[in-house]
Amino acid sequence: MESQWAEIGKRFTGQSPLAILAWAYQQFGDRITLASSFGLEDVALIDMAAQVVPCPDVFMLDTDLLFHETYQTVQAIQARYRVRLRRIRPSLSLAEQADQYGDDLWARDPDLCCRLRKVLPLNEALDGYAAWITGIRREQSPTRAAALAVEWDGSHGLVKVNPLVLWSTAEVWQWVRDRDVPYNPLHDQGFPSIGCMPCTRPVKPGEDLRAGRWSGFEKKECGLHQ
Ligand code: SF4
Repeated sequence: MESQWAEIGKRFTGQSPLAILAWAYQQFGDRITLASSFGLEDVALIDMAAQVVPCPDVFMLDTDLLFHETYQTVQAIQARYRVRLRRIRPSLSLAEQADQYGDDLWARDPDLCCRLRKVLPLNEALDGYAAWITGIRREQSPTRAAALAVEWDGSHGLVKVNPLVLWSTAEVWQWVRDRDVPYNPLHDQGFPSIGCMPCTRPVKPGEDLRAGRWSGFEKKECGLHQ
């Protein structure tokens, strides 16, 4: 199974994002969903997907800890595009999490906090689907440097489609500007990658694009992309 999808991945890596999306929606029909944290790549992908299918299925993992600007971006995207947006919430409220694990879990054990507020909700979001679309790009971090346009996601048991895998940051920006796609204003304030408020800071010149995530910890991924 894995090698079959790796072959397809090699074939599609290098094709245009629209061509990859067209193939993916044809292949998986209504059993494909688009993961969105409403960052730059995600809004570009929503714009592309809306050109390929009439009402793409999109989900967001709402941790209850997102920036106000992120929620504003969600509203702007919903006003512009016809999407079926699924807002997936953790099973524990912030107060329940604090009761069970103590205050500010993200400052002591971000892996556990991400597991409760992102990884477990992701399993729920993907349940019943055959494939998911993500905004992963090779340029984002060394952990993503070998990603392909299509991969078998063994940890979730479905296909992962990464249409922007070879795109540079400049290419994503070009798409967003050319198409006047609504985007998170924090991108103009030094935040190339935007997650939860407690775990995201602006990056400094020369740092990698995800250096502002979980600053002070070794952690560089939420655990969503293994
Ligand atoms: S990014 Fe931070 S606040 Fe958000 S779920 Fe992970 S550890 Fe918790």
